[in-house]
Amino acid sequence: MDQELRELYQQVILDHNKSPRNYHEMEDRSQEAEGYNPLCGDILHVYLKVEDNIVKDVSFQGSGCAISKASASLMTSIIKGKTKEEAEIIFKDFHDLITGKLGENSDENNLGKLNVFAGVKEFPVRVKCASLAWHTMRSALNKEDKKVTTE
Ligand code: ZN
Repeated sequence: MDQELRELYQQVILDHNKSPRNYHEMEDRSQEAEGYNPLCGDILHVYLKVEDNIVKDVSFQGSGCAISKASASLMTSIIKGKTKEEAEIIFKDFHDLITGKLGENSDENNLGKLNVFAGVKEFPVRVKCASLAWHTMRSALNKEDKKVTTE
């Protein structure tokens, strides 16, 4: 990846860490889950409002590193309005991206802005930071009713 693109990616992550989107507790949630990444200490709570198989609203709260917070922020922006099935597909593609199984160019995947996390594949601990919000969202989506941990 060229330097300019890497810097742009860095800026997106810093921006979402500084001003996380959808960062609040949701009063009228239909489901929720809590996720924990013991390797880094990231804790996230994800709230969902699912109606007619569609994620009508999504929000999160928590504390953790810049990667985990930015990933949660971008996740909420992207999942909102999607069907459960669409959310599952994005989860899988995102997971493949950060573990290096999927190419990071927009002509190789449909992940758009999520490609900013492609670089974490070189850092196994960071993979867990970036994927925590997604595992937690998926647990809430499927009403698994257990605490998510990356271990
Ligand atoms: Zn972290």
